[in-house]
Amino acid sequence: MFFVVDLSCRILLIYFSPYRLWDTYGIKRVYSAENGLMMDYLQGLLEDRGIHCMVRNQLLSGAAGELPPIETWHTLWVLDDRDEDLAQRLITEALQGPARDQEGWSCPQCGEDIEPQFSQCWRCGTARPEG
Ligand SMILES: [Zn+2]
Repeated sequence: MFFVVDLSCRILLIYFSPYRLWDTYGIKRVYSAENGLMMDYLQGLLEDRGIHCMVRNQLLSGAAGELPPIETWHTLWVLDDRDEDLAQRLITEALQGPARDQEGWSCPQCGEDIEPQFSQCWRCGTARPEG
């Protein structure tokens, strides 16, 4: 398949290119973190949505000593910059949860203020209203 060949070539080009050339190939960094624990999870999440991406970490950055500290963090890249917006949104949702989960709610039965992580009123057992 042409696409697979193309993708492989890109990865090879990236791998042997000077760091500054990365942007030339439409590759965008969408997430970076000092801790790499989330990377596999986020990469799988993006690939499930058909976004081609790659993780780059300290082991791959040969010139780490010459780069600012943040560049030695674990980083997640999308290979096509058209995927950048969607990738950013998916990552934000994955790390923070859907927006509506950020807010607490009031029990319609007894009026108790409930924290966002609970789906039932702790006082009377009424289920959280939809929406
Ligand atoms: Zn209640």
